[in-house]
Amino acid sequence: MIRSLTSRLIFLYCVILLMLGAAFLGITVISFRHYAGQVITNILASRAQDIWRMSRDEFRHPDRLKSIIERRFSPESQDRFIRIEVDGKTVYRSGEPLNGHFSAKDIPPILPLKEGEVLPIGEVMLYAKSFTQPGGPRVVIETGQFQYAQTVEERLIRSLFIGLPILLLMAAIAGYLVMRRALTPVESMIRAAESYTFNEPHKRLPTTGNEPRIEALGLALNRMLDRLNSAYSHVNRFTSDAAHELRTPLTIIRGELELIARKEKLPPDTDEAIKTVLEEMTRLSGLVDNLIALSRMDSLWGKTAHDTVDLLDLALETIDQMHLLLEEKHLTVTKPRGPAVLLPGDRGRLKQVLVNLLGNAIKYTAPGGRITIQIRAEGMMAVVMVEDTGIGIDPEHQQRVFDRFYRVSPDRGADGAGLGLAIVKSICQAHGGTVSVRSKPSVGSCFVVEVPLSATGASSPVASTMESRRFAEMSTSRELSKTRAKAV
Ligand code: ADP
Repeated sequence: MIRSLTSRLIFLYCVILLMLGAAFLGITVISFRHYAGQVITNILASRAQDIWRMSRDEFRHPDRLKSIIERRFSPESQDRFIRIEVDGKTVYRSGEPLNGHFSAKDIPPILPLKEGEVLPIGEVMLYAKSFTQPGGPRVVIETGQFQYAQTVEERLIRSLFIGLPILLLMAAIAGYLVMRRALTPVESMIRAAESYTFNEPHKRLPTTGNEPRIEALGLALNRMLDRLNSAYSHVNRFTSDAAHELRTPLTIIRGELELIARKEKLPPDTDEAIKTVLEEMTRLSGLVDNLIALSRMDSLWGKTAHDTVDLLDLALETIDQMHLLLEEKHLTVTKPRGPAVLLPGDRGRLKQVLVNLLGNAIKYTAPGGRITIQIRAEGMMAVVMVEDTGIGIDPEHQQRVFDRFYRVSPDRGADGAGLGLAIVKSICQAHGGTVSVRSKPSVGSCFVVEVPLSATGASSPVASTMESRRFAEMSTSRELSKTRAKAV
């Protein structure tokens, strides 16, 4: 089954061409045969007539008859055959043709006589006609000619049989080239559509210079993108506004609860309840912060303001700030080493990538485990690897963990809302990079971030350095506040 449009059209085009070719071949051969038959009949009939006219008085003198015929018709040198019978007795038969195209002596008489018809006898087209003079004998004159027409016909069929496949091949190649050219705009629309993300909301499919229907399709898809974008911005604004509204009351409630937990001498069950509420408040604040972070990432996309960031330095700083969490779980951490890895980007948000990945590694690794962080430059890319000996991720979840609100299994013992890796992915994309994971259940996971070392192709989602710094501080302090909440 041919699926591609190009192949299907070319196949159809070749089948039509083959049918046309076969029809052309058939019509050509039939017309040629008909025309050649008419011509040879006329020639042989008029030759028989001529012979009769010139030699009707010589039939009783074979020598004179022979000399007249040979002088006038030269049968041997011209591939002709002539036989004259008078009252059933052959009085003249032409000799063997000089080039040996046929054997004159082997040509039988046409019996019964079919007057006025040309019949193929061996290699010769033979015509017979009887003549009589009043009171004279019955004379049958047979004139024949080597079948040149058949040879020509055979050659014609042979050359068409050879020519037709060549013609078909050329037509298929030409068809393929024409189709490829015609589909080039579609290809570029596919490429543009594949590379489209909500992070570049103003990007549209190319439409100009296309065939009108393809242009109309491009314009319709672009209008659909406009509508999708406006719906997406709407939802995004709503999330951002709602999260903002929630943040202040949450901070106040948490502060008040912390105060109560420290000051009052509470009965043990109330104390326990406040601790639980505090933990939940911390989780909720984290969720709200993450929602704000994601909606800001989306809305600030494309505004370029780059710092020069040293990833190695940033990683060491992050590890230092998170040492309480590491110590709490007795995790061994292997710090990155080597030369500085500098790249243009948003320091605050790149720090959040490290905080989220390291935070997850801590969360999902059992006490006493190991976390290894490596930072290096590889070709044109800066590579960050955060590896742990934790619980790992099943293969079917590995690609989905980067989706918003996706959690492998909420009962895996760690809190979270499934936004951390979505934020990592967003930040990496904003820097023109990627994030991926290799993981084996019960063995561990390795998250790999790759970001270009130069700004080419990257668009940073930064609005202002101050904002991004606040952003990073927020995420680090959130991780630390979880430990504090537990300690209260
Ligand atoms: P969460 O806040 O739930 O941790 P994330 O987006 O950070 O959300 O992670 C999504 C899911 O990916 C988590 O629910 C967790 O199951 C899995 N995950 C992330 N990092 C790791 C890791 N280092 N080891 C094992 N599982 C992980």
